[in-house]
Amino acid sequence: MSETTRETTEKTDPLNALLREGVRGAVHAPGSRGHERGRTGMQQVDRHAPDAVVEAAETEDVRAAVAVAARLGLPVAAQRTGHGHGTGMRGGILVDTRRLDGVGVDPERRTARVGAGATWQDVIDAAAPHGLAPLSGSAPGVGAVSYTLGGGLGLMGRRYGYAADHVRNLDLVTADGDHRRVDARSDPELFWALRGGGGSFGLVTGMEFGLFPVEHLYGGSLYLDATDSPQALDGWRRWAEQTPEELTSGVSALVFPDMEGVPGPMRGRLVVQVSLAWSGPVERGPDLVEPLYSLAPVLMDTLRELPYTESGAVFDDHDDPAAFRGEGILVDALEPGALTGLLRLAAAERPFMSVVWLRHLGGAMARPPEVPGAVGHRNAAFALSALTFTEPGSPDDAAAAALRAEVAGLFADRTLGRSANLSFGAVDADEVRAMFAPEDLRRLVEVRERVDPHRRLHTNRPLPSPERTG
Ligand SMILES: Cc1cc2nc3c(=O)[nH]c(=O)nc-3n(C[C@H](O)[C@H](O)[C@H](O)COP(=O)(O)OP(=O)(O)OC[C@H]3O[C@@H](n4cnc5c(N)ncnc54)[C@H](O)[C@@H]3O)c2cc1C
Repeated sequence: MSETTRETTEKTDPLNALLREGVRGAVHAPGSRGHERGRTGMQQVDRHAPDAVVEAAETEDVRAAVAVAARLGLPVAAQRTGHGHGTGMRGGILVDTRRLDGVGVDPERRTARVGAGATWQDVIDAAAPHGLAPLSGSAPGVGAVSYTLGGGLGLMGRRYGYAADHVRNLDLVTADGDHRRVDARSDPELFWALRGGGGSFGLVTGMEFGLFPVEHLYGGSLYLDATDSPQALDGWRRWAEQTPEELTSGVSALVFPDMEGVPGPMRGRLVVQVSLAWSGPVERGPDLVEPLYSLAPVLMDTLRELPYTESGAVFDDHDDPAAFRGEGILVDALEPGALTGLLRLAAAERPFMSVVWLRHLGGAMARPPEVPGAVGHRNAAFALSALTFTEPGSPDDAAAAALRAEVAGLFADRTLGRSANLSFGAVDADEVRAMFAPEDLRRLVEVRERVDPHRRLHTNRPLPSPERTG
């Protein structure tokens, strides 16, 4: 046995034994397949390296894992799909929630109750037979709970608001191991914080939220050749600003790689992919999108009527494991000059892959919800995310960071703050601060200090210490 293996085993064996006493699901030690599976997900940058992975089989396992962490003073975290983790944890206990994927739909009340491990596709499939749909986003493979804790801007966001706005209650294990249901009456401040403030307040084991009577969309993507159309992004912006609230749209700008698997017409081209979901009367869809066809030559067109169960086809997001980073920026307006500059940056040749995302916000997302929540910068008109794909430790990391900073710089004059959900990879304290208005940040930190005074929860959007909220 090597020195390192012996050290690891000495540290982790008593912990694993303790966890096995209280957990009905599996407890995985470092080096095992379950440990590797639990800590691996879509995001490959800085994966977690916990002392133990608890593969929870029931919600009681989550409570048991948090109680052991509290007793031993260890950090504890949850992961479902790994789409959104930030800085990886070093040591401690990671709760793998994949088996807690139950979804119950109440068609009368138009609500769903989900376990911590349900993905949006699980919810979509359970709701569709009742003619209902959730406020899911572009990639239905993401976990419904974490998406909602970060606000959740979805395909019907402009019509119905953020996913967080429609949460009825959450079941939460706080850092002391206490398991409770939180709603607007039981603990209004904690309920406010959980709906948009991120995962700093406990591990969520269940969530109930509203569903909407939508069965079909008119949607998909129009892939435009922007090589000779520098105004393509601004054309989309002008069009989007005129669209009704039943339409939510976004754009990706990138040079498609010239390789097998990429549709022929797009290989090596600068493509502006306009993606949209219209949830109004389907027959009106084609007329609404007509102006987009004259923005630039059309390379591919996937717009059609589709059942909500196929909503993942709208943006057709890249959803395979990858190492990527991205700053999500929220702006009050997109200026034509900045958009032309953005397209120029997207077009430049680089040794690494990069994509720029823009999402149209406003509508119900800009209005206060019935029960207030902590979603930051609701008045933003657009969200922007510059994504770069480089392997950990790549010599291109510095150039990728410089590109993301350059993109952010183009919009500095109109920037309101950061987006919790559209920021990818580790975020620093300044970025988390920028996700909320100062007063809301102070409230969030106060709630966190109440429910996790020792800051044991390892989360992807860590709130600052009280003295650093200013
Ligand atoms: C391709 C892609 C498309 C996306 N599209 C959208 C979109 O359209 N709209 C949008 O709003 N967001 C979008 N996102 C962002 C996504 O919602 C977040 O990354 C979200 O955190 C992913 O949740 P997850 O459970 O899948 O990921 P995970 O990586 O498993 O979890 C992310 C973090 O959430 C916390 N967490 C997880 N489970 C729990 C729990 N049970 N209790 C408390 N905290 C928990 C942990 O800190 C964890 O590190 C997208 C992301 C990607 C990669």
